[in-house]
Amino acid sequence: VASEYLRPTTLAAAVAALAAQPSRRIVAGATDVFPAQVARVATGGSNALGPVLDVTAIPGLRGITDHGADWSIGATTTWADIAGASLPTMFDGLRAAARDIGGVQIQARGTIAGNLVTASPAGDSIPCLLVLDAQVVLASTRGERVLPLAAFLTGYRSTALRPGELITAIRVPKRAGRGGFRKLGARRYLVISIAMVAGLIEIDARSRRVRHAAIAVGACGPVACRLTGLEARLCGAPIGEVRPTPADLTMLAPIEDVRASAEYRRAAALQLIGDLLDECAAETGAGRA
Ligand SMILES: Cc1cc2nc3c(=O)[nH]c(=O)nc-3n(C[C@H](O)[C@H](O)[C@H](O)COP(=O)(O)OP(=O)(O)OC[C@H]3O[C@@H](n4cnc5c(N)ncnc54)[C@H](O)[C@@H]3O)c2cc1C
Repeated sequence: VASEYLRPTTLAAAVAALAAQPSRRIVAGATDVFPAQVARVATGGSNALGPVLDVTAIPGLRGITDHGADWSIGATTTWADIAGASLPTMFDGLRAAARDIGGVQIQARGTIAGNLVTASPAGDSIPCLLVLDAQVVLASTRGERVLPLAAFLTGYRSTALRPGELITAIRVPKRAGRGGFRKLGARRYLVISIAMVAGLIEIDARSRRVRHAAIAVGACGPVACRLTGLEARLCGAPIGEVRPTPADLTMLAPIEDVRASAEYRRAAALQLIGDLLDECAAETGAGRA
């Protein structure tokens, strides 16, 4: 009989357990798994979590490593780990998001892979990782596969994770520039975002022109997305010259709900992007790689 709770200490043991029982539920910080369970019970669902695979005792899955051409953020790296890490300016947006996720208790337990697999439209790490061109590293007994984050996220709360697979790391190619993150909620902490924006901007220090621009918006559609039209308009222009317009937001599909109307979400996204660009213009230099 398969054990209800497994906490392997090697990746090999973890993928073997998943191969033997692909329906086994992967759990890291459980800050999404437990509230979802409570919600299920409240609506008459089962209280049983079923067999669990706790991935938090696998040492190689936690921490941030410099691999030369890219960075690797281990799947079970927590928000507190990310907020406290010494990282180049390209990660300023992700670190700002880490400091805003839930409160300190959630940041101590919640992990980066958990946030991606939940794939909530309001998942704060998602726009930050989209602008970093992050890739998701997946492992199973069949080996490893690597997917761009945009391909990993297949829709509202859905991903390309296959049965028997787990995320081992998030890979981020190194580049110059400075990251930023802004989120709007009904209050400062412990709130689901109404809209959020992440950016990675590299400015030529001499000409003050934009060398590279990546802008992504979250909570304004089923999946966060990059604003490629705006990015193209920004590239090569003096920083501060190009302003976001409603036409830049055509790929967004914001919902109307108790938190905000679709129109308000679009207006909020425009304001947040403008604020992010102003912040960039106010900063000197291009950031270090
Ligand atoms: C009070 C509260 C406030 C919150 N505030 C925010 C917020 O401000 N912003 C925000 O974005 N989120 C927020 N969250 C949601 C949550 O904390 C984050 O999404 C967190 O990063 C989830 O990580 P976890 O390790 O706890 O995931 P878990 O709950 O352990 O897992 C979540 C999902 O990921 C899967 N999973 C976990 N690790 C792996 C892996 N290595 N490979 C494959 N699948 C895996 C699990 O099977 C499950 O489907 C909040 C939650 C609470 C309870």
